Amino acid sequence: QRGVRHRDRCRHGNKQEKSMTLLDLFSMAGKSALVTGGASGLGLAYVEAVAEGGGSVTIADLDEAAAEREAARLTGLGHSVRACRVDVSSDEDLRRAFDDHEAAFGALDVVFANAGLAMGDGYMGFDGQRAEAGQIDTYPVEHWRTTLAIDLDGVFFTIRHAVRLMKKHGRRGSIIATTSNASEITCPIVATPYMPAKAGVRHLVRQLARELAPFGIRVNAIAPGSVVTNIGGGVLKDPAVRAVWDKGVPLGRMGESAQFKPLALFLASDASNYMTGSEVVMDGGVSVRGIEG
Ligand code: NAD
Repeated sequence: QRGVRHRDRCRHGNKQEKSMTLLDLFSMAGKSALVTGGASGLGLAYVEAVAEGGGSVTIADLDEAAAEREAARLTGLGHSVRACRVDVSSDEDLRRAFDDHEAAFGALDVVFANAGLAMGDGYMGFDGQRAEAGQIDTYPVEHWRTTLAIDLDGVFFTIRHAVRLMKKHGRRGSIIATTSNASEITCPIVATPYMPAKAGVRHLVRQLARELAPFGIRVNAIAPGSVVTNIGGGVLKDPAVRAVWDKGVPLGRMGESAQFKPLALFLASDASNYMTGSEVVMDGGVSVRGIEG
C-alpha cells in the first residue's frame, strides 16, 4: 500500500510529495518485520536496522534466551521488539511464529529469512585443516540433510508464511534472504552442502521475485562474505583465525555485522521499491578477486 501511495505522489507531484525527503524513503515507521536468526550476528544487525528505522520487529530464533535478551535490550532503548522461539527447519514452527507476529503487530511488511549455519556448528571444525569440504565420498549424509533443512528448507518455510500474511493484509512487502558469496564462488574451508544450499536460496529469490511481483511483493538477497559473527561456534572471532581470513579479503579485513545495517534498511524500506530479484554481494571484494598476480 505504501509503495503505491508513494508512487502516486511521485506521479501527481502533490504537496505531500514535495515535503518528502530522500531520507523519508528509508523510514520503517508504521511497519513491522520478522527476522529469523535475529538473536545474533547479521540477523541482529537487521533487527537493529529496522528498529532504528522506527519499525517493530520480531526476533525469531532457535536460541530463545538470546532472543529474549536482545528483545529486552532493544525495548530498553525505546524500540518495539519482541522475541519468539522458532526452528526454521519446521514449517509448523514458522506458521506459529508468523501467527504470533500478526497477533502482536497486526500485519507484516518485511521478513529477513536469515537463520543459517555453516562451518562448525557441531559438524565441521575449523582447526586449520581443510576440513570435510571436498570429501564427498565420506561426508555424513545426516550433515548434508541438516544443512539443507536449515539453510534451504528453512528459507522456503519462512518465505511462504511471510507471503501468506503479506497477501492477507494486502501489504506490498519486502522479503530479504541471507545467501552468501558462496552461492556463486567455491571455498575449500566451508562444508560442501553450504554451497548448493545458498545457491538454491539465490535462485529461489529470483523465481519468487517473478512470482510475487504482481502482488507488489519484492524479493532480494544479501550475500555477505566472511563476517565476524557467532557462526561456526564463534570461530571467526578467534584472532588467529581472523588474521588468516583477513588476508584473503581485498579490502583487507573481514566484515562486521553492523556494516550490513544500511543495506538491510535500504532493502527493507521503500528506498528500494524498484528493486526485486537481486542478490547484493557485500564481501570486501572476495568474489571478484580472481587469480592473484
Ligand atoms: P550467527 O551464528 O551469529 O547467527 C545465526 C543465528 O541463527 C543464531 O542466533 C542462531 O541461534 C540462529 N539459528 C541457527 N539455527 C537456527 C534454526 N534452525 N532456527 C532458527 N534460528 C536458528 O551467524 P551469522 O553469521 O549471523 O549467520 C546469519 C546468516 O548469514 C546465515 O544464513 C549464514 O549462512 C549467513 N552468512 C554468514 C556469513 C559469515 O561469515 N558470518 C557469511 C555469509 C553468509
